[in-house]
Amino acid sequence: MNWYEEFGEQVRLNVPLAPLTWFGVGGPAQFYVTPRDVAQLQAIVARLRENEIPIHVLGSGANLLVHDAGVEGAVICLNSPEFKKAEIDGTTVRAQAGKDVQKLVLECAHAGLSGLECLAGIPGSVGGEIKMNAGGAFGDIGSAVHCVTVMDTNGQVYVRERDDLVFGYRKSNISARFILSATFELSQDDPTRVANKVKEIWMFKKNSQPLADHSAGCIFKNPRGLSAGALIDQAGLKGSIVGGAEVSSKHANFITAKKGSKAADILTLIEQVRTRVQDKFDVTLETEVVIW
Ligand SMILES: Cc1cc2nc3c(=O)[nH]c(=O)nc-3n(C[C@H](O)[C@H](O)[C@H](O)COP(=O)(O)OP(=O)(O)OC[C@H]3O[C@@H](n4cnc5c(N)ncnc54)[C@H](O)[C@@H]3O)c2cc1C
Repeated sequence: MNWYEEFGEQVRLNVPLAPLTWFGVGGPAQFYVTPRDVAQLQAIVARLRENEIPIHVLGSGANLLVHDAGVEGAVICLNSPEFKKAEIDGTTVRAQAGKDVQKLVLECAHAGLSGLECLAGIPGSVGGEIKMNAGGAFGDIGSAVHCVTVMDTNGQVYVRERDDLVFGYRKSNISARFILSATFELSQDDPTRVANKVKEIWMFKKNSQPLADHSAGCIFKNPRGLSAGALIDQAGLKGSIVGGAEVSSKHANFITAKKGSKAADILTLIEQVRTRVQDKFDVTLETEVVIW
């Protein structure tokens, strides 16, 4: 009997990842796993470990570039109904890892809760956004986090409290493989004021980013004190094309992918941009996008 048979349709073989990422490119996952709940996640992870199968965790795929050859091992996505729940209790919001952050932002605005507006227009799941400490000029998700429940690859579940959490630029000190849920402490505000702030931030993003195209947001991290987008723009790279991949004319730190693009096109363009910026400004750009 194969390791996955006892888990039925929660483990599927050779599943294309392109439709599960915002770039819309890349090959299949050898095993695509969508556990029903934490108990089943623990059982699956135990089998994966016994069989020495590599584990990858997928959120909404908004910061991911998957190679054309796909991913060996298991891609685990916490997107079953149990992992998409969120509840509001006064100013405390508890959300499971698979909860869509844009929905959460709107639910909080509706409830007159302020603290997550800065995430308007940043696509992702609660798990993925905490992992990346998603944010920008308006703030980041880490600032609103009260505690995070995580699970390691031994199946051990534990809570990381605020005092023990450090959120930095697109990173945190959470090393456990799985973020299961998070609790946010928000402040009471006027629902209309919060909704207007969400709208304002969303409009700003819509005007400055190619939101209608396939992308993964910013490709490179901003080097200390500098803007990666400005360096790419000043290097004359806006509009550069490799195959179906293009450096966006709207925001130079975005690479967009046309239908039919290959991951290889995007990877080649990333390297061309990195080389040109290195040669022109002697600055090494580090990728923000996670590459599988
Ligand atoms: C149009 C667009 C605009 C964007 N704008 C911004 C922006 O302004 N600011 C910004 O910060 N980002 C931005 N991004 C990038 C993206 O929205 C964020 O990085 C977001 O955090 C990705 O969340 P995700 O759920 O899609 O994670 P994924 O892309 O699925 O995964 C990202 C990383 O998180 C890990 N991960 C995912 N879920 C979990 C989990 N439950 N437990 C542990 N690890 C997990 C993955 O293994 C991977 O390493 C943008 C992306 C797009 C497409």
